[in-house]
Amino acid sequence: MVNSQELFERAKKVIPGGVNSPVRAFKAVNSNPLFISRAKGSKIYDVEETEYIDYVGSWGPMILGHNNEAILKSVEKAICNGLSFGAPVEAEVQIAELITEMVPGIEMVRMVNSGTEAVMSAIRLARGFTKRDKIIKFEGCYHGHSDSMLVKAGSGVLTAGVPDSMGVPKNVAADTLTAIYNDIASVEKLFAENKNEISAVIIEPVAANMGVIAPKEDFLRELSALCKRNGTLLIFDEVITGFRLAKGGAQEYFGVSADIVTYGKIIGGGMPVGAYAGRREIMECVAPVGGVYQAGTLSGNPVAMAAGLAQLEILRSNEQVYKHINAMAKILGDGIELLAQKYNVPANINRVGSLLCVFFAESVVTNYAEAKKSDTVAYAKYFKSMLKKGIYLAPSQFEAMFVSSAHSEDDIKNTLNAIEGTFMEMS
Ligand code: PLP
Repeated sequence: MVNSQELFERAKKVIPGGVNSPVRAFKAVNSNPLFISRAKGSKIYDVEETEYIDYVGSWGPMILGHNNEAILKSVEKAICNGLSFGAPVEAEVQIAELITEMVPGIEMVRMVNSGTEAVMSAIRLARGFTKRDKIIKFEGCYHGHSDSMLVKAGSGVLTAGVPDSMGVPKNVAADTLTAIYNDIASVEKLFAENKNEISAVIIEPVAANMGVIAPKEDFLRELSALCKRNGTLLIFDEVITGFRLAKGGAQEYFGVSADIVTYGKIIGGGMPVGAYAGRREIMECVAPVGGVYQAGTLSGNPVAMAAGLAQLEILRSNEQVYKHINAMAKILGDGIELLAQKYNVPANINRVGSLLCVFFAESVVTNYAEAKKSDTVAYAKYFKSMLKKGIYLAPSQFEAMFVSSAHSEDDIKNTLNAIEGTFMEMS
């Protein structure tokens, strides 16, 4: 039987770092990655058939758990008709109609192939619409790996300690201004210094790529008002929060509207999909109607659309999914908090809906500077001990735990038992 170690050695010879996305290398937790062979429901299995309760969920899209029957059936049916035509298909129309129905304020949608592409296109659209070049992003927020977004970014870039990537031209980075998450004064200052120059403010409404950080009361509302006053578009990057916090994503959850919204993985049900969406007046600036060019050979691919459509249809008609994932995440979060107190482990739990993060930090984490102070060595110990006990967590302090509708009360109980054992070892 092949094992993960052998595969990793082979992989390193032919793939940079042995992986196709940096965080997967387990470098931040001083380990070697597991190679996965299959998954079902809340569980994943490595190539040696070891079972784990999975809280990575392919980094978000598996909100219904792995290998959901309805999604599989929909994909199987689509595959039988052909893999790609490079021409319009009905499923593209259906998914766009579904998104406009589920998310208040969205009138038009353009499908792409990843979250990175969605954000890159949304930024170009905002620049084209406002005829301004500068953008504001927040330190520690991750919006994919396009040049203008690799400035003080979160996720793998933060994990690797290189939040500003080599290879990004200085003049591109110069148009990306960075503000402090949860600090409206830092945004006001940038607006004052760059009057009539800011095309868009882009934000993860819940910052989920520097751990999980909730917006403070009124922060998003104030941000929206500030953008309106300055003729600037507000972009919510809902690659993580979209269709997870609620059917209408963070906009519905927090009652704040954005001008453009970006989506990713979750609307593909596990297939490579992204989208950007917004009001008709803005979206009609995109080619072939308007002059903002954006295209894609595989955009709206029929197999990917079939998967996304099946996932979104389940989410539309099952309020129970949201009740379940939030309830499971609450039991988990509250349980971890109690165990941290019991064993005197300095862990702070941040939770928003079904997104959680165990920060090894002395106090509550509310922004990038505080997140960066967390104890990544302690996180690595926690991660390794949990993995030994059959729990698959994100291999970095700066990522979320994702709870799916396939996580049962038993899964949560078993996870808390593993955490108790781990905290005992750590205390
Ligand atoms: N935006 C956010 C908020 C994300 O979390 C991610 C990826 O995790 C992206 C954008 C980029 O998406 P992708 O990895 O599909 O390019």
